[in-house]
Amino acid sequence: MPQNYDIAELKRLDVAHHLPAQQDYKLIEDMGGSRIVTHAEGCYIHDGDGNRILDGMAGLWCVNVGYGREELVEAATRQMRELPYYNTFFKTVTPPTVLLAQRIAGLTGGKLQHVFFNTSGSEANDTVFRMVRHYWKVKGEPKRTVFISRWNAYHGSTVAGVSLGGMKFMHEQGNLPVPGVEHVRQPYWFGEGFGQDKVQFGKDCAAAIEERILAVGPENVAAFIGEPVQGAGGVIIPPDGYWQEVEAICRKYGILLVADEVICGFGRTGNWFAHQTLGFTPDMVAMAKGLSSGYQPISATAVSSDIVEVLKTGGDFVHGFTYSGHPVAAAVALANIDILDHEGLVTRTRDDTGPYLANALKRLDGHELVGETRSIGLLGAVEIVSKPGTNERWGGKEGNAGPVVRDHCIANGLMVRGIRDTIVMCPPLIITHQQIDDMVDIIARSLDQALPDLQAL
Ligand SMILES: *Cc1c(COP(=O)(O)O)cnc(C)c1O
Repeated sequence: MPQNYDIAELKRLDVAHHLPAQQDYKLIEDMGGSRIVTHAEGCYIHDGDGNRILDGMAGLWCVNVGYGREELVEAATRQMRELPYYNTFFKTVTPPTVLLAQRIAGLTGGKLQHVFFNTSGSEANDTVFRMVRHYWKVKGEPKRTVFISRWNAYHGSTVAGVSLGGMKFMHEQGNLPVPGVEHVRQPYWFGEGFGQDKVQFGKDCAAAIEERILAVGPENVAAFIGEPVQGAGGVIIPPDGYWQEVEAICRKYGILLVADEVICGFGRTGNWFAHQTLGFTPDMVAMAKGLSSGYQPISATAVSSDIVEVLKTGGDFVHGFTYSGHPVAAAVALANIDILDHEGLVTRTRDDTGPYLANALKRLDGHELVGETRSIGLLGAVEIVSKPGTNERWGGKEGNAGPVVRDHCIANGLMVRGIRDTIVMCPPLIITHQQIDDMVDIIARSLDQALPDLQAL
């Protein structure tokens, strides 16, 4: 049960002292402080104002096993008693860290047999950034330094994460991207390919990668990085065949293929990893979020044996963090994977709740404000349009319909995210049919209520 907090005082202190993530500080001040989330159970969060909110975002795309899992509390407690911390710098490692590496290698399979640990998804991608460039140098091809990524990709908030990412508004802060990152078009059919044949559109988007490789010179390109399904960009599910084309292009020019599975991993799309769902084989995989269901900060970068064999000829790889392989985080991640496994949450997402969500979303397809619904596993999106049957937006340009509808959803008891003109959802994998229906009903009601606000955009 929650402690007896003074919520008004906490809000005042929040404004006075706390700087939140990715936020407008003045806006929070004008609001009188952030919403104070006090406790949670299952698929519901509770705030200090007494609201119980269905968590359609699984926290921030991470609480895959839901809230209130005693097994994870126990795993952390046991490990903290036995050994709360030790590092992996001193030719040392802790038992849970080794066991988690083995566990992840078993799930990724194939050549992805090695794992480097970090504490966030951004750091997992920083590890990609440094390891890929170091790999090519050791291999004797030091000119291969360029990363190819997509516009509107999200790869984190560190310098390397923002640079690899394709969010222009993030690049504008901090003089980014760093040199050596090339961005190409994203496979966003509804926004950028509307009216075209979907599969052909996907092929064209993949062809843009090859064109850029040729423009940069294949001998200069180190890797292509992409989220199998873009998350923060708006749950963008690429057309069928896109990833097969991308993989073929990478192989053709000997370029490493990196999957950023920070959201897609650990059951989200109905398999342990989305590259399995979408049918391609990366050389490296970044993972975080669902790895511990957010109960501890931990991320991992899975690396192919081919890469590791080369690194072994290069001496020290001088990269790593104080908390790389943190034993408490690793113990919690192991227990989290046990839950996903024992409760069949991955196959349930594939065979039951994922298809159920897709069907439930279809109920919105007839709504006059909905241009498209799409989902893969338990990752879904609703496109908001100003005219049925088109991809035209309120206010006449790509804009803010998503946040407008989101605010109604939250007021109606559902936490979702509004990204430009979409509502996105990513509920815990324990979600029930009834809760999926509730989620879709609340979105439908919120769309109706939002109409006057949208007309004013
Ligand atoms: C969230 C996210 C990241 C960054 O993870 P952090 O833990 O916030 O650093 C990177 N890539 C993708 C695809 C993400 O969704």
